[in-house]
Amino acid sequence: MLDKLVIANRGEIALRILRACKELGIKTVAVHSTADRDLKHVLLADESVCIGPARGTDSYLNIPRIISAAEITGAVAIHPGYGFLSENADFAEQVERSGFIFVGPKAETIRMMGDKVSAINAMKKAGVPCVPGSDGPLDDDEIKNKSFAKRIGYPVIIKASGGGGGRGMRVVRTEAELSEAIAMTRAEAKACFGNDMVYMEKYLENPRHIEVQVLADGQGNAIHLGERDCSMQRRHQKVVEEAPAPGITEEMRKYIGERCTRACIEIDYRGAGTFEFLYENGEFYFIEMNTRIQVEHPVTEMVTGVDLIKEQLRIAAGQPLSFSQSDIQVRGHAVECRINAEDPERFLPCPGKIERFHAPGGMGIRWESHIYTGYSVPPHYDSMIGKLIAFGENRDVAISRMRNALGEAIIDGIKTNIPLQQDIMADENFQHGGANIHYLEKKLGLQ
Ligand code: ADP
Repeated sequence: MLDKLVIANRGEIALRILRACKELGIKTVAVHSTADRDLKHVLLADESVCIGPARGTDSYLNIPRIISAAEITGAVAIHPGYGFLSENADFAEQVERSGFIFVGPKAETIRMMGDKVSAINAMKKAGVPCVPGSDGPLDDDEIKNKSFAKRIGYPVIIKASGGGGGRGMRVVRTEAELSEAIAMTRAEAKACFGNDMVYMEKYLENPRHIEVQVLADGQGNAIHLGERDCSMQRRHQKVVEEAPAPGITEEMRKYIGERCTRACIEIDYRGAGTFEFLYENGEFYFIEMNTRIQVEHPVTEMVTGVDLIKEQLRIAAGQPLSFSQSDIQVRGHAVECRINAEDPERFLPCPGKIERFHAPGGMGIRWESHIYTGYSVPPHYDSMIGKLIAFGENRDVAISRMRNALGEAIIDGIKTNIPLQQDIMADENFQHGGANIHYLEKKLGLQ
């Protein structure tokens, strides 16, 4: 097993990684900004190193400072968590070049999947179903672009190959708008991502977001752990996630899961990963791969019993997968509500001191969070302060436990989105299951 590991992240995921390390007997080093001295995992880690001021670029995004912290503490590996540097191929490369283990795939895999055009090409080659599209970057040939769009059929969506975070996309409904939309997306992509490559896809009007969790050991073994439905979104940000996805049969799970595991072998994937799909009229369409652990990984853990972070650490230590596909059974149902420090009506971040906190509990309830009474949520980072996960033998039981737990949670001193989550859990269409990615925004009157 790994001897000592740097946790290059903050908040709930840093604590989650710390707990997994403790179980496996791995010593931990917390690296943190000056704003994060009081984070729970910093207090619980074997060692901690302050790597800079609050601003992300000076701390959690500063590659040399993180690598220096690994050097001075004698760590052997670095876990990037999610966000920050987790999908930065240069970081993975520099970590390995400096003689440390990066908990994740090889830098070249991250680079290939970070570029959506190359990711889609790799997936097509591996037999993963993709959205009908331009099959590569668009150039400025108007006649050619118009004929692509005609073949695909309007509406189409122009997307930045280097895009992320739901930015760098434009829907085009008629031929008259096409050339200008391509030029505008290209300019935006250049400004935001430093890469002006754009491509075209069929715009799916009412899809669901369904994603498949995989684990691969880089030694020729890959398994899938079923799917999650993350269609409850606001501004392309997930709000509620669940596993399994309502209405997905065992045969469909096997069909799409096998394609994903085959792709993992084909691209020589290593670590935990997620294949994201849009799902419409019974068909899956690949949109991108996340080469890291995701926020919503606990719902998969609850229905499969697999500890994904421990598996990541075992794989990083060079061990083969501890499960084979036949060991993976999806049992029961799990729902996750992201709890954010934000105004539930206006969605503005709401940092500040937590005056009183009581965690929810009860059968099937899991609370992943770093907050405590007296903790101050800093204004510099993402507003997510915790994740509430409810498991039950079926979806109705999971939702009813979630409703109880949301009602029990007490977080005083700051505003949170708990009222919004209560509304969603009480919503008839959510309870029915299978709502599409526009549902929440429509419900909130945002569309
Ligand atoms: P990002 O990396 O920015 O998250 P994605 O490619 O994952 O970009 O797309 C983000 C979201 O944009 C999707 O979840 C979906 O809501 C919407 N989207 C992307 N591609 C399409 C498409 N072809 N048709 C309809 N919606 C799309």
